[in-house]
Amino acid sequence: MWRKIKTNKYKSQKGKIMKTMTCKQLGGACDKEFHANTFEEMAELSKKHGTEMFQAGDKAHLASMNSMKHLMQDPKAMQEWFENKRKEFEALPNT
Ligand SMILES: [Zn+2]
Repeated sequence: MWRKIKTNKYKSQKGKIMKTMTCKQLGGACDKEFHANTFEEMAELSKKHGTEMFQAGDKAHLASMNSMKHLMQDPKAMQEWFENKRKEFEALPNT
């Protein structure tokens, strides 16, 4: 039954389990996929990508960043958003 699982290309060298989320799922604007072991790592990848897109002047990402900025002005709302995304991350199947 479990002879060979196709998705082990996302496992890191140490054999850790990676999870996948897209830029859009993390409040961004495109379908770029991020692979990480922890939600913190995931958030870091998304932030890095967002910064790159910001520097490139990508309009779609600038717009989504603006709405995130709006959210960040309310620490409680930001915390809620973050916790919701963390739950979403934890509910993902291990790939
Ligand atoms: Zn993106």
